[in-house]
Amino acid sequence: MDACLTVEREVDKVKSKFDSYSANFNKQVEEQLKQLVELKKRISEGEENEVNSVHKTDLKLLTLKISECIGKLAVDHRDLHSTVSKVGKSIDRNFGHDFDSTYKEEFFSGPSKEHLLNEVILQHLYRQGQLDISEALAQESGIHEYKSQKEPFIQINNILQALKARDLEPALTWAEQNREALNLNGKNVLCFEERGRTTVQQKSTLELRLHKLKFIKLLSEGDRMKAILYARKNFPRFVQGEEKEIQSLMAALMYSGPELATSPYAHLLDPNHWVEIEDMFLRDSCALLGLSVESPLGVAVEAGCLTLPALLNFKHVMTDRKEGTSDKLMTTLVDVWNGRDELPIEIDLPNQMRFHSVFACPILRQQVSDGNPPMRLICGHVISKDALSKLSSSHSKLKCPYCPVEQNPAEAKKIVF
Ligand SMILES: [Zn+2]
Repeated sequence: MDACLTVEREVDKVKSKFDSYSANFNKQVEEQLKQLVELKKRISEGEENEVNSVHKTDLKLLTLKISECIGKLAVDHRDLHSTVSKVGKSIDRNFGHDFDSTYKEEFFSGPSKEHLLNEVILQHLYRQGQLDISEALAQESGIHEYKSQKEPFIQINNILQALKARDLEPALTWAEQNREALNLNGKNVLCFEERGRTTVQQKSTLELRLHKLKFIKLLSEGDRMKAILYARKNFPRFVQGEEKEIQSLMAALMYSGPELATSPYAHLLDPNHWVEIEDMFLRDSCALLGLSVESPLGVAVEAGCLTLPALLNFKHVMTDRKEGTSDKLMTTLVDVWNGRDELPIEIDLPNQMRFHSVFACPILRQQVSDGNPPMRLICGHVISKDALSKLSSSHSKLKCPYCPVEQNPAEAKKIVF
């Protein structure tokens, strides 16, 4: 952000210089033009429309003045170049990182990888509701199998737009159509007695929340009778487990129209309820589609942006050291960077960006893989298979690196997460 502000300051300087130059330029040119027109007029008004010696002197003087003025303008214009080039230098200074050094070409090259990348971009565009551009990309990349995914995204986007415009109908229709599936994914667990048996039921609160907002809307519009009829028609099926909430809504019926805003139920009018319902709808609809709420591409780009500064720093430090020393270890580390699939340093990302945690060996500091799975020692400590074979290569007995327990390496068990 600081980098952006620094560059912006330089751009502002250029803008103000351009403005003052342009104002000065126009003023000067107009001045010279005016004098030329005056001289022309004087000549045409003179005797027989002839150029006399006075005119000649005036013309000479004026020509001199004009060329002097042009000279000045040219010098000022040259000054502009240095201000403009300062912007370029500022960009280089603040953003001029060598991103190539953090990028491995083979990740995205090749037809299958390009296809995969296009698919991810396409899905992102569908999520954003950018239908025109996604259509163009689908055509150009020849990806058509994703079209089936487009419809649900269009529907979700339309409903979200309607919610933003405080129109609840499309969301209510959707929630009613998907009631069963929504309840299966619901986070509310209800326990109730039925014929002597305790029954547990999962419930989604989305539909009730939508009805609640509709009810409050009717009430705040001053139509109490309409609100009562709406509540009678829609609330009974949600009463179980939500008694308190519905009781409170019923009590709010004492106030309607502008009264509601100054009543003890004014909190029902909080605009945050609308923000929350959008969020809730998005989460629930994505869950039904089996999709993450956040766009995978968005998360990847954001995580990349957070990671880049640390990677660039690491790369610079490593490159500098490599140039300055013939130390073998350093050379190996740079080669690790160039040759492996994993990042050479650990980078902390916020919790919401952590998915599918992978066990990293505490000895070798490598993530485990199919070929190098995690192994549980009999003492309960876990290390990678590579570490186990390295530690036990010369002895038949292995001493756990974390506790004093001695054991036979063959007794370690592979762990499957
Ligand atoms: Zn141990």
